[in-house]
Amino acid sequence: MVREIDEEIMEERELQKQELEDPKKRWVLKMVKSAKRYHKLCPYYDKKTGMCLLMITVEGVQGKCDRDGRYDGCPVFNKFLEKVYDSYKSRRKVLPNDFQDVVNQAYII
Ligand code: SF4
Repeated sequence: MVREIDEEIMEERELQKQELEDPKKRWVLKMVKSAKRYHKLCPYYDKKTGMCLLMITVEGVQGKCDRDGRYDGCPVFNKFLEKVYDSYKSRRKVLPNDFQDVVNQAYII
């Protein structure tokens, strides 16, 4: 039992290490961390309607946020940041270091 738990912990650490070695994932994590400095709730969450303003850009369909605006670990939010990363890389532009530089990109990408 203890051995199984140890193996699970080792696998989890290995996965985290691999994620940190991936520059795209590292940048996405950095932006999420930066976003937390400015936004308690997701900046793309419409509190009045509960709609996700990113869904149409990322998924191609309109939809409601099923996370009440909690963006940490949100697949839509992360996918958006990955798209931003790809867009910057394809245009050979310098990646933003601060989430505020990204915040308006939803309507550009
Ligand atoms: S689904 Fe994710 S990206 Fe969309 S509003 Fe909710 S937390 Fe934000």
